[in-house]
Amino acid sequence: MNDLEFKHKVLDKLSDSFCAAKWYNATIWLGSGMTTSCHHPPAHLVDIDKVTTNPRLLHNTDQKKADRAKMLTGERPPGCEYCWKIEDMGKDAISDRVYKSKIYPIEALHEAFTTPVINDVNLCTLEIAFDRTCQFACSYCNPAFSTTWVNDIRRNGPYSNLVSDGRNHFTHTHDSAQQFKITESNPYIDAFFAWWESDLHRTLQELRITGGEPLMSAHTWRLIDWFKENAGKSTTRLAINSNLGTEVDIDRLLASTQGMAIDLYTSNEAISTQAEYIRDGLVWDDWANNVERLLNSGQFRGIHVMCTINALCLSTLDQLLECIINWKLEYGRDAISFTLNILRFPSFQSPLVLPEQTRTVYRQRLVTWLEHWIDSEFVHEHEVNHTQRLIDYLDVVKTPHSEAFEMPKLLNDFKQFYTQYDQRRSKDFGAAFPELKEWYDSIQV
Ligand code: SF4
Repeated sequence: MNDLEFKHKVLDKLSDSFCAAKWYNATIWLGSGMTTSCHHPPAHLVDIDKVTTNPRLLHNTDQKKADRAKMLTGERPPGCEYCWKIEDMGKDAISDRVYKSKIYPIEALHEAFTTPVINDVNLCTLEIAFDRTCQFACSYCNPAFSTTWVNDIRRNGPYSNLVSDGRNHFTHTHDSAQQFKITESNPYIDAFFAWWESDLHRTLQELRITGGEPLMSAHTWRLIDWFKENAGKSTTRLAINSNLGTEVDIDRLLASTQGMAIDLYTSNEAISTQAEYIRDGLVWDDWANNVERLLNSGQFRGIHVMCTINALCLSTLDQLLECIINWKLEYGRDAISFTLNILRFPSFQSPLVLPEQTRTVYRQRLVTWLEHWIDSEFVHEHEVNHTQRLIDYLDVVKTPHSEAFEMPKLLNDFKQFYTQYDQRRSKDFGAAFPELKEWYDSIQV
């Protein structure tokens, strides 16, 4: 059944707003005690007192139950606005409500639909973050997800004169993201392990650990050890995000996960000096060596490179893709893959800030890369689609210019941010991106 048939014949038959993600999927940040269903609705706080007696409430919050009640009658929960906007384009418009429901069996959808809303349901797919400990402070990240970013703000104060960053990502230390000190006991983490031990390990199909840098959290190792010591007790697919930086203990990772089939997700979108500039803390050679060590071990289900497409990565993105292709040629098509995810926030780091002429040059490099590899058996369909989607996005004719009126603000923030980033991190924009230097120097603030 294709996506449109699924929407009309299955999903809309239940209700015009039913979405299985509200029942079966969650992201939970245990450091802040916040949760959401998919990544679109705003996160909300989990009741700390309630989870100590019923850990299933980490996911089954009053807010989610109220949203489920709305979905059963076709009413639209406001937090899911991202999907409603797409669906308002027409009856055949396919929002994430379709994609995020289609991954579950149709019987599970009916079960969710007929379960009384006061009941707690078991999760099928979960992304979890234990804390925000991270040794990197990437340019597009912020203190909510990195202790190194926190240190930058503590040491140097807020970034100043940014006018487009409505979310104030770079002006404070986001202390609410880490309610408890790393050395203190955290009731949310206790509740997660209580739930995991009691029944989550039996019902959960996929568990993805994110961060911060998860491999710098003792709780991640505790969970990996659980899998090792309880081999065969759980069929949950385990996935781990890691920046694979110099400090990550690859020896321990390889030793601890031997015999387990894990997916490892790592972020990068450029090579060499450019990657090191964008992802502050990364040492390109160490990252590349760590990827090779994991590939060499042959013990991972897959290594997945997540590329966050921002203005600065485009000068060497095609070279990173070439590097991934070379790994595919050596280790096999499925050993390593990539996704290209276009950055939305902070918007001043979006590729749309680049001059049209530069975007056209970068677009052409991707066109050349894709033309060369499109028919190769080593490239997945989703990799072709993601590359084509980015090529279309960079097309100055096709891209809607809705941001045009914001452009002076975005350019101001681009220059303001990277000027301060250079000072704080001992970097040099012009040296890292000689192709952009003349344009960058010409931006008046
Ligand atoms: S309706 Fe859309 S925004 Fe809401 S949970 Fe489903 S996929 Fe996410």
